[in-house]
Amino acid sequence: MDAMPTARTVGFQPGERNVFFHILTACNLACRHCYINPAQHGTATLSLDTVRSWLALFSRPEQATNLILLGGEPTLHPDLPAIVRAAKALRYAVTVDTNGFLFHDFLDRVTPRDLDYLSFSLDGPDAAVNDPIRGENVFARCTTNIRRAVAAGFATSLIYTVSSLNIDHLHRMVPLVADLGVRRLFIQVIGLRGNPATSACQQTNDWQVAPEQWLAVVPRVAEEAARQGVHVIFPKVYLDPGELFLCAGIFAENYFLFPNGRVYRCPLCEDHPIHAFQIEDNRLVHRDGLTEERFFPLQIPEGCVMNRLLQPGNIDYHTDGTPMHHISCCMLKQEVRPIHS
Ligand code: SF4
Ligand code: SF4
Repeated sequence: MDAMPTARTVGFQPGERNVFFHILTACNLACRHCYINPAQHGTATLSLDTVRSWLALFSRPEQATNLILLGGEPTLHPDLPAIVRAAKALRYAVTVDTNGFLFHDFLDRVTPRDLDYLSFSLDGPDAAVNDPIRGENVFARCTTNIRRAVAAGFATSLIYTVSSLNIDHLHRMVPLVADLGVRRLFIQVIGLRGNPATSACQQTNDWQVAPEQWLAVVPRVAEEAARQGVHVIFPKVYLDPGELFLCAGIFAENYFLFPNGRVYRCPLCEDHPIHAFQIEDNRLVHRDGLTEERFFPLQIPEGCVMNRLLQPGNIDYHTDGTPMHHISCCMLKQEVRPIHS
């Protein structure tokens, strides 16, 4: 009988550092759930020299650091291959998150040795589901480029953002991901940032997924994908009874950099000017006053404070006033590893 792959929580690893670096905010697409917020993050495209300086600010060659290069669409940056190589020279483990268009002949200008992972975003197993969310012909373009990347020897991953628009189709991603030869599947939950946080969107779209639906669907699909040889990572979202709540702002080292120099420690805070750090004249400045760091130590029965502040409607309560679910830090992940790894 086959062994059953099962989900396990990936606790915050002591010494692990992650730098999420938005090198621009421009994008060729206009996804319905886009979380980029130019009013808060600026519209600049950072020059190669500036990117190099900022990479140096966060590099610690003696300590493993993951660098995730993001946009907007990062391949719109004409110097992305040089940025990737500069990051490797600083001993970052480098991932590029792309919407699949791979501008400026990106695949031909980097090698699989330059990149640890090339990560593609897709929100449906076919054009009928994906394209109403991400744009016309995006499914075809993205899957064609995933196949090219896999054939060229790049390690690839795929990000699927779950919402009420596509959760019923998540199970159909399993055969697609296996067929494409993608090694890792990241299942994300739609957040209330960027477009989904605007009042117009909230009135016309009920994109959030109920806890029962998430818990019934996501772990089961992840286990099936693992049986097909795919490593699956997804957010914990709801802590199990008795499970310890930890805030990544205190217990982990994550930095989210934007082209206007804002540096956040918590992604839920990104729509608000409460960033913990600011890059000024290529120096990292710790900000005083009311910043996100004031919220991290607060202990509330609901779990994550920022979730309680930003998405209060998502928490249901028992008649005695206690919350039905304890919301984990959005950076706490679960994983299901493939049986054969
Ligand atoms: S590809 Fe990313 S940055 Fe571009 S519109 Fe979609 S979600 Fe936003
Ligand atoms: S999501 Fe919540 S728990 Fe996680 S870093 Fe932000 S405030 Fe802390």
